[in-house]
Amino acid sequence: MALIVHKYGGTSMGSTERIKNVALRVAKWHDAGYQIVVVPSAMSGETNRLLGMAKELMAQPDPREMDMLASTGEQVSVALLAMALKAIGKDAVSYAGWQVAIKTDSAFTKARIQSIDDAKVRNDLDAGRIVIITGFQGVDADGNIATLGRGGSDTSAVAVAVAMKAEECLIFTDVDGVYTTDPRVVTDARRLKTVTFEEMLEMASLGSKVLQIRSVEFAGNYKMPTRVLSSMTDPMLPLEIEARSGTLISFEEDTNMEHAAITGIAFNRDEAKITVLGVPDRPGIAYQILGPVADANIEVDMIIQNQSVAGKTDFTFTVARGEYQRSMEVLNGSVKEHIGAGSIAGDAKVSKVSVVGVGMRSHVGIASQMFRTLSEEGINILMISTSEIKISVLIDEKYMELAVRALHKAFELESA
Ligand code: ADP
Ligand code: ASP
Ligand code: MG
Repeated sequence: MALIVHKYGGTSMGSTERIKNVALRVAKWHDAGYQIVVVPSAMSGETNRLLGMAKELMAQPDPREMDMLASTGEQVSVALLAMALKAIGKDAVSYAGWQVAIKTDSAFTKARIQSIDDAKVRNDLDAGRIVIITGFQGVDADGNIATLGRGGSDTSAVAVAVAMKAEECLIFTDVDGVYTTDPRVVTDARRLKTVTFEEMLEMASLGSKVLQIRSVEFAGNYKMPTRVLSSMTDPMLPLEIEARSGTLISFEEDTNMEHAAITGIAFNRDEAKITVLGVPDRPGIAYQILGPVADANIEVDMIIQNQSVAGKTDFTFTVARGEYQRSMEVLNGSVKEHIGAGSIAGDAKVSKVSVVGVGMRSHVGIASQMFRTLSEEGINILMISTSEIKISVLIDEKYMELAVRALHKAFELESA
């Protein structure tokens, strides 16, 4: 019997009414003869609420205790969904990550899944039960609960689908698929019927939070068919229609030379830029600046080093805005003195906007069109980075939405 994994996000699980709808949708698939594993997130707002309470007690909450706390949101969801299914006559059982077990490493708040034991789940499915497993969490080798980073239920769902050798992983959410850009920012954004795995990976890593990046990596590494679709439709929508709705991530080599140059626009509002000024231009300097930043577990994104004048240069890089203060502390500590830099400047109000598309390989002039569009809007570019299928620019935060809308129009991405 074919097995399908369903994932429901926070909005989809946002109230007992919505949970009843999830139960009806899951029951519809089960009635059609599928074995179903459901991976829900915490009810919307719940994870933020929990993390907010932690911050009221400790400025930098202890990571292990943070995970102990944050994981409770998903435990509420699985139990409520099991009850909603039982209430409509379905046999269902809920499990926390450690009960399955979903084994992770011990990197609390950003743990990685290492293995999933499918035995217990398989037994339940064979007995006709619907199995509901908490998203976002697992257990480390010492029995501690560890969470997978914000948006991590997507990764739990795809990993469970891979471990269970599911036919497909369906990511039900509050939009009806992956769009050319966030439909909340550009109202005439267009839904993509398919998106290549490479493009989805870039879009997720450049800030489109519709899928957590690691879920896309799992889907790609194991070629797990993964579809993003709406949980906001009538739960009794005919299954044949629902099964083909939304956006499918495709793994085929994209051979379509007619492919539009750009597939989508991603953005990340919460960036910060740091410049170390008056750095002596000598070998090893990049390592001496970025080594201590990496040792503090801070991820660096864009990097530029200016041409040197009279043996001195400026070195600029970006980090996530949440890491800005800590990065400044690291640099103002021993690093500045050690390398003999002049001063350190920063700007925590910058955003990154990126155009993404495999079509870039066969189209020229994408960068110049992007830069022309931004210049026509009077938007200053602070930094640029490129790869084979994306161009990213760093700009002042206050121009971010304007930039996204202007680029969306310039590359003719809007719905017809
Ligand atoms: P869930 O709670 O279901 O996991 P998320 O809020 O994590 O949902 O992700 C869905 C949201 O992602 C949408 O509501 C939308 O605002 C946002 N989003 C950002 N970029 C895109 C995009 N390119 N296509 C669709 N949604 C996007
Ligand atoms: N509840 C977690 C979060 O808010 C995981 C998820 O929603 O995917 O980040
Ligand atoms: Mg999400």
